[in-house]
Amino acid sequence: MDTSKVSGVSGPLAMEVDALSVVYQRSIKALQGVSLAVPQGEVVAILGANGAGKTTFLRTISGLLGFHGGAITSGSYRLWGRSAEKLAPQSIVRRGVSQVMEGRRIMAQMTVEENLDLGAISVRSRRETAERKHQLLEQFPWLGERRHSVAGYLSGGEQQMLAIARALMSNPRFIILDEPSLGLAPIIARQIAGIIAEIAADGTTVLLVEQNAAMALSLCSYAYVFQTGKVAKQGTAEDLLDDQYIQELYLGLAGAEAT
Ligand code: ATP
Repeated sequence: MDTSKVSGVSGPLAMEVDALSVVYQRSIKALQGVSLAVPQGEVVAILGANGAGKTTFLRTISGLLGFHGGAITSGSYRLWGRSAEKLAPQSIVRRGVSQVMEGRRIMAQMTVEENLDLGAISVRSRRETAERKHQLLEQFPWLGERRHSVAGYLSGGEQQMLAIARALMSNPRFIILDEPSLGLAPIIARQIAGIIAEIAADGTTVLLVEQNAAMALSLCSYAYVFQTGKVAKQGTAEDLLDDQYIQELYLGLAGAEAT
């Protein structure tokens, strides 16, 4: 099992990224020397404004970079201690990693249940798929109530919950969530946060990419702040919540102490 070279991290790592650099179209630098560790069983967050490189990072670790005209130029990426930077997307899923893409990407014309079945494509046995679906329908009762509803008619929050449940169908050890609160009302975003906390409490490792820093820092133990393709800051959630730079840029608390 991998143990980290990244400072402050001990114990087994689900993911370790070491000095990763990525370009698009051979020359556009999107990530420069990004190092990051996700300890097994923890929630780690990546924060950053538009264009900071968060999506590029997720494309890289999901094996999807090539489809977007990007390539790794240096650095390494390991999942549970084994090299992963050359893996195809389906091999990464087979290693136990499941990603909830930004914008939910559910199949709008299919039913809730059909969407869940799609999440089990990498699961070989039908019995396992049926068992997993049963578990999820119990965990999220509203899914059971709407199992025959057309997904496109669900509210934004329900679609996000469906996208998360679909990602859980493959019974991942590690789930990656790309901006799960995007476009949702604060009260719905809090419900999504509750679901993420539940997933983590079950022992699943979580990597959460968010522009909503308040939500991310309420859930994670450690966070990385991306800026123009680099890690500009990192620290425990506690430290970052106290950090003036984070407060001003990401938590909307500029000048808070003056009032
Ligand atoms: P957002 O939240 O807006 O998605 P982000 O933090 O995810 O932002 P990226 O989308 O990773 O940032 O973008 C990082 C940089 O890479 C930006 O300068 C962007 O213009 C560039 N970029 C992203 N995708 C491509 C692409 N397919 N081809 C060329 N450049 C790209």
